[in-house]
Parts: sequence; C-alpha cells; structure tokens
Amino acid sequence: MSGVPPTVLIVEDERYILKVLETILTSDGYRVIMAQSAAGARSSIFSHMPDLILLDLGLPDADGVQLLQETRKWTKIPVIVVSARNMERDKVASLDNGADDYITKPFSAPELLARIRAVLRRREPTPGNEDRYCVGDFQIDFAKRLVTVDGEIIRLTQVEYRIVEFIARHPGKVLTYGHIIRHIWGPYADTENNRILRVNMSNIRRKIERDSMAPQYILTEIGVGYRMAEQA
Ligand code: CA
Repeated sequence: MSGVPPTVLIVEDERYILKVLETILTSDGYRVIMAQSAAGARSSIFSHMPDLILLDLGLPDADGVQLLQETRKWTKIPVIVVSARNMERDKVASLDNGADDYITKPFSAPELLARIRAVLRRREPTPGNEDRYCVGDFQIDFAKRLVTVDGEIIRLTQVEYRIVEFIARHPGKVLTYGHIIRHIWGPYADTENNRILRVNMSNIRRKIERDSMAPQYILTEIGVGYRMAEQA
C-alpha cells in the first residue's frame, strides 16, 4: 500500500472480534479506529471521516441497520456489514439501506481483505470504461446495447437486457432481488415475489453462461440477490 493508508472504522461490541479485526487490518497496512456502540460509531464517523466502515449489526445501544440508515442520510462512506450466518433478512435490509457489501461470520482474513479492497476500488471510477463491461469472453457495449460472448452476439429480450445492464453497471456489488425488481418493473412491483426475475435470470444464464449451473458472470447470493463478476 502506498501513500496515505485508508482508515477503517470497526464497529463491533465484542472485544475479542474487535481485536481480531484490528490485527487483520493493521497488519495489512490500514489505519484502524474502533467503536463498541452505535453512539461511539456516530462520534467516530464525525470526527475521523473514515474511508470505510466495518459494521456489526448487533450493537448494544442500537440496531446496526438503523445506524446505517442514519449514516446514509449524509455520507456515502462505504459500509461493509458483518453478519451472522443464516441472517439473509439482515443482509437484504442492509443492502437495501445502502450497505456496499456484507461478509458472513466466520470469515477468513484474506476474504475480508479482498472485500475491503473491492469496495474501496469501486469508489474510484474506472476512467474511459463506463461504456463497456467486460469479463473474460463476456462483453456488454452499453451504447449499442450489445451483448456478446466470445464475439458472438447474444439475443436478449428487452427485459433480459435491462436486467443484465443494471447488474453490470454495479460490478462486484450484490444487488438485492427487491432492488432489481423495483428498477426493472417499477416502484409498485411486488418485491416479495421474485419468480419472474428468477425465470428471466435462468433464461439469461442459458444464453450467456457456458454452464448455467455454475455461472461465471452473474453470481447468485442465495436468499439475497445477484452479483456481477468484477471486471479484470
Ligand atoms: Ca455484536
């Protein structure tokens, strides 16, 4: 890491986990500040303006999602939520309230560091690359609304194209089913029912993926949503 190291605020009430996270981050060169409550987090965000927040959802004095909502009213500081296993509802609520990503406990140090790097990288626009999405043989030319795999034009329906385009505009980021449904079918669409989205997605995958059972481009986050592979 060169230049000024990014500052990460860790919000976690369990001392042991806090210590582990601090060690992982500092040994990778990050500056770390810590808070053990929502109140502490609020004042740390104001006084330090960290580059990223690692947020545990179960805090003693407030719900992490609530803290996230408050924070999103005035700042876009990237937030990665640290969530327990099988808490899909919390993950969805976090993403729908502006979290940039989540990581599920228990996680490994390399996994955590990779997520942090990806979120920090996404903050910086890739110059000259806004018109195109490209991973491996898969390419989207947004201006021409053209999807190709290995140079072959893929024929997508209007709805399929809009889904692919929307997800590809946010490479690496998990978009919840509800978020995608509202974007494609409008604010009054039934976000509880994702059957139509899933049917479209399986058609899309049949057209673009080599093996639609093991997709490489549009990945499923079970119970949460879809994530487009990051551009190389
Ligand atoms: Ca906790």
